[in-house]
Amino acid sequence: MTIAYKFCPHCGAALIVGPVSGHVREHCPACGFIAFHNPAPVGLAVIMHEGKVALVRRALPPLKGYWAPPGGHIELGESAPEATVREAKEECGLDIALDRLIGVYSQADVRTIIIAYLAHSIGGAPTAGDDAVEVGLFDEWPPQPPPDPAWATATDHWFYGVLRELGAAVG
Ligand SMILES: [Zn+2]
Repeated sequence: MTIAYKFCPHCGAALIVGPVSGHVREHCPACGFIAFHNPAPVGLAVIMHEGKVALVRRALPPLKGYWAPPGGHIELGESAPEATVREAKEECGLDIALDRLIGVYSQADVRTIIIAYLAHSIGGAPTAGDDAVEVGLFDEWPPQPPPDPAWATATDHWFYGVLRELGAAVG
């Protein structure tokens, strides 16, 4: 197990790794605090804009340089749909309305859970921002090469599979 924290955020004692209720967990022997390691949820929007699919070319891993729908981490204080709408505006400049949930994607060795929505634009203009190099409007989902094992992580391979599934889901 990976140790994420050295000291207990509650009482300051050194954390240890060992069994707690039958699970090996990072915990505090002094106060009982348990450092849970949970995947982080990401909201992602497949956006239809003027009859085309709006994708952003990613500036950061995973799959840096690939075309993907805009998305980002959900923060406390916002719902999954609210975060997805916010991220779409920040990354590709479009105001969107969500139409339906496409699917929820997760894998045991990946630290992210993707919640993917189908959406359509209701305003704004395609403009790359934040983690996007550029915005592209596509008639069809663009084919992209599989990630090279020389650099790809488990997250890259998983995300590539998610993108293919999203492409198949929306045509
Ligand atoms: Zn403690």
